[in-house]
Amino acid sequence: MRGYIFIPKSISCTMCKHCGARPVIALVGRGEYVVKCPNSDSHYQTDAGLIDIEDWNRHNIMAIEEELEHASMIACYDSQLNYTLFLPV
Ligand SMILES: [Zn+2]
Repeated sequence: MRGYIFIPKSISCTMCKHCGARPVIALVGRGEYVVKCPNSDSHYQTDAGLIDIEDWNRHNIMAIEEELEHASMIACYDSQLNYTLFLPV
């Protein structure tokens, strides 16, 4: 088993889009590295060469599912428990 180099927390990198793991750097040859998922070789890994966290990041951007909260009525009650409905703008 090859040793992995853990990427310092100070370096921002995206998590594996398949399993959410923080990537590691693996030495694959003489001075060649890949940035890869520690859990599976079938998850994305960069081409062997220089450590290319940028490339990893580009390939592991999660499809951002925008969870827009659908506008719904807001009810406000006053002290007499009369309520007014607002539609948020
Ligand atoms: Zn993974």
